[in-house]
Amino acid sequence: MLGHLYIVVAPSGAGKTTLVRLLLENDPGIRVSISHTTRQPRAGERNGIEYHFTDQPTFQKKIDNGDFIEWAEVHGNFYGTSRSGIAAAIEAGQDVLLEIDWQGAKQVRTLFPQAIGVFILPPSMAELETRLRKRATDSEQTIARRMAAAREEMRHVAEFDYVIINDHLPRALNDVLAVVQASRLRYDSQRQRHSILFSTLL
Ligand code: 5GP
Repeated sequence: MLGHLYIVVAPSGAGKTTLVRLLLENDPGIRVSISHTTRQPRAGERNGIEYHFTDQPTFQKKIDNGDFIEWAEVHGNFYGTSRSGIAAAIEAGQDVLLEIDWQGAKQVRTLFPQAIGVFILPPSMAELETRLRKRATDSEQTIARRMAAAREEMRHVAEFDYVIINDHLPRALNDVLAVVQASRLRYDSQRQRHSILFSTLL
């Protein structure tokens, strides 16, 4: 039984982290991969929980060792997904979710063409800016850079299988749950999950 690989991408401020947290609370069967980053932790972020916070030389060493299935520079910092355990988890039937950027999604798709891409959009540019400004830890310069990066990120929406507009959190959560549910109802998944039934019926 193969697990599913979900790639969730959104511009910063679209509400991706909250949505993913709610998804995991509603569906404990999905495991989120914890990325490595050279970014400084924000207030309240813990090493090994939100990210594995690492320095530049350690990150570079991991790239050189081929430890990442994908990595990218985003907003001036490096982010990468550890190779360890992802393919094994999927082969063991575990659903795995990657919260990465569009560049990483592109790399993952070449390795796992069956990955299910989900793109989260904000309801408007104005709302995106409001949400970014609420993050008091980010400087004015960071906000301007992230707004520009958001436009760049959203140019890649067509590369994804599903699009969720996060204008109302409960509705967006329902949409994500529907994507997960639909992926589990695909023929290949159902045939593997119900192999005895299939062999008796067909
Ligand atoms: P933040 O610093 O706000 O947590 O994340 C900034 C951006 O980096 C987000 O778009 C996030 O999805 C992306 N990101 C986080 N982890 C990874 C990763 O492992 N790989 C890639 N390519 N992007 C990541």
